[in-house]
Amino acid sequence: MTRVGVLALQGDVREHAAMVASLGADVVSVRRVSELESLDALVIPGGESTTMDKLLRAFDLREPLLARLADGLPVLGSCAGMIMLARDLVDGIEGQQTLGAIPMTVRRNAFGRQVDSSEVELVWELDGSQMHGTFIRAPWVESHDGDVEVLATATGPDGQRHPVAVRRGRAIATAFHPEISSDTRVHELLLGLVD
Ligand code: GLN
Repeated sequence: MTRVGVLALQGDVREHAAMVASLGADVVSVRRVSELESLDALVIPGGESTTMDKLLRAFDLREPLLARLADGLPVLGSCAGMIMLARDLVDGIEGQQTLGAIPMTVRRNAFGRQVDSSEVELVWELDGSQMHGTFIRAPWVESHDGDVEVLATATGPDGQRHPVAVRRGRAIATAFHPEISSDTRVHELLLGLVD
């Protein structure tokens, strides 16, 4: 059976775990290095990227996680998880580190600050269909390298369209929270990346 880890240091772990389980995979809560080893895929949930970054380092998980990502472990990061997967940040805090799995610059809190959340209709570019996204203090992708595929775009508070879901190799990132909807397309895409 496919084993999908959910990084469980902080954030909306439970919702991702429930969605992964509903798709028939085994779910592992990941807090230790040993729990990283047997995974077929990993989810980095939403939450607070600055805290998640500090906890990754405090739990000595940062280096082993970087190694697994470099090795091609399929990964999905949502919201704070998207921030964690970025190479560069706009509006990061002093000393904030990311994992750099996707060559993109992500703007933190682009869709609003602190408690702001919004429901946004977005375009799922893979087939041109509509998708409903819940954005909570969400980032967007400010810029990216040419090999990053844009999976979804949405109109921001600035009236412009921005990438809000991307994929590069086996890494997927969404600015919105696919785990708190009944739409399983994003998680299915992750499971489809497992060998
Ligand atoms: N703004 C948060 C951060 O910078 C992300 C918010 C979220 O994950 N819902 O980490």
